[in-house]
Amino acid sequence: MDAHTGSERSKSDDTTSESGSTRGAEPESALETARRQLDGAADHLDLDPNVVERLRHPTKVQEVTVPIKRDDGTVEVFTGYRAQHDSVRGPYKGGLRYHPDVTRDECVGLGMWMTWKCAVMDLPFGGAKGGIAVDPKQLSDGEKERLTRRFTNEIRGVIGPTRDIPAPDMGTDAQTMAWLMDAYSMQEAETIPGVVTGKPPIVGGSEGREEAPGRSVAIVTRAVCEYYGMPLDETTVAIQGYGSVGANAAHQLDEWDASVVAISDVNGAMYDPDGIDVASVPSHDEEPEAVTRYADTVITNDELLELDADVLIPAAIGNVIDAENADAVEAPIVVEGANGPVTSRGDEILADRDVAVIPDILANAGGVTVSYFEWLQDINRRSWSLERVNEELEVEMLEAWRAIRDTFEERDVTWREATYIVALSRIVAAHESRGLWP
Ligand code: NAD
Repeated sequence: MDAHTGSERSKSDDTTSESGSTRGAEPESALETARRQLDGAADHLDLDPNVVERLRHPTKVQEVTVPIKRDDGTVEVFTGYRAQHDSVRGPYKGGLRYHPDVTRDECVGLGMWMTWKCAVMDLPFGGAKGGIAVDPKQLSDGEKERLTRRFTNEIRGVIGPTRDIPAPDMGTDAQTMAWLMDAYSMQEAETIPGVVTGKPPIVGGSEGREEAPGRSVAIVTRAVCEYYGMPLDETTVAIQGYGSVGANAAHQLDEWDASVVAISDVNGAMYDPDGIDVASVPSHDEEPEAVTRYADTVITNDELLELDADVLIPAAIGNVIDAENADAVEAPIVVEGANGPVTSRGDEILADRDVAVIPDILANAGGVTVSYFEWLQDINRRSWSLERVNEELEVEMLEAWRAIRDTFEERDVTWREATYIVALSRIVAAHESRGLWP
């Protein structure tokens, strides 16, 4: 089967806007994107418009003031949010980011996007997002800890292991989650690891959580290649970004005998048409931004996106494939490792050219899936081996893939449309079944 498969239909579903593109991005807020995704899927389905209207709005947005004492003794006041979008399928789930650009609307939009993502994976969670408008690089560790503990206390009434379970996001990490878990547990007078995921394993975090998004990108890439009759050992892959997602995807695909011909970081890309020995190149975590130092042939990130590879995996930042360069993408398959690497106009161009674009809410959903495993381990007071985590991740990813593949074949839509149709139909069916209270 030809990988240039798709439809002539116009694309209306896109992914969350993540800023940072070096190219001229078409600005669209996270909330606009999420609502467009909802409307796009609703157009394809005979959905109850009353339910769609409910899904356009969050259930609740908590806005809080977070004062902290700085190291110099002064008090500084920050604003934090927790936006809870929809919980029809289970407790709210989603990240907490510390970034100067955090706003109420951004949290609402990204929370909606989490609702779709959890539904794609059929996880028993709804969507949420939160954060604090702060530049964490300007804070000492002590200040970050005080900020996190105070913020936790302010949102304590709306989070909890059966209500809303935060996770790390931009500017937050496993240590932030450990502080959050401790602050919450202290107030409840018992240790409650299930209030948050992405913790260090020593306090209830899961094995395999860090590698999971890259691993899921690799699993989905393998599945899509198989679908198009491309044996992995004859497949070339170009990967933009060599951080957590990109490096883990590269290592896994290399282990499965795919030929990784290009990898990159912010400084540029390493290219070898005969295949790179990725095990010999340190990831961003091991040696930051070192890819080009190990390269014989260096090309630019823009050139990487236009390489004649079988699969292109943009796994660095958002909005890198847009109206300007979508025509030049040579790969017949694009697997979105980063969040929102293809703009809506870029997506239309790729769809017109029948490039198969596998959306981020499926491809990098290994992260939230292993977060779900972490939550299961926490509430059951058990811990799983890495082997078990990886096995169960593979099962979940392939189940999600099969549902999307069936929809793609049945409805003559793009992969992105098929993914949103699967997610939205599950959410709407749950709403219809439960009805409107009171
Ligand atoms: P990371 O910080 O570990 O690595 C990012 C990589 O991208 C680095 O190699 C960096 O040098 C490179 N990069 C940065 N700016 C670049 C640019 N302008 N051009 C080319 N390369 C550039 O980040 P990550 O955790 O791997 O996340 C990558 C993307 O995947 C983000 O969009 C993120 O939101 C998304 N994502 C991450 C996770 C996760 O749990 N890590 C989960 C889902 C989605």
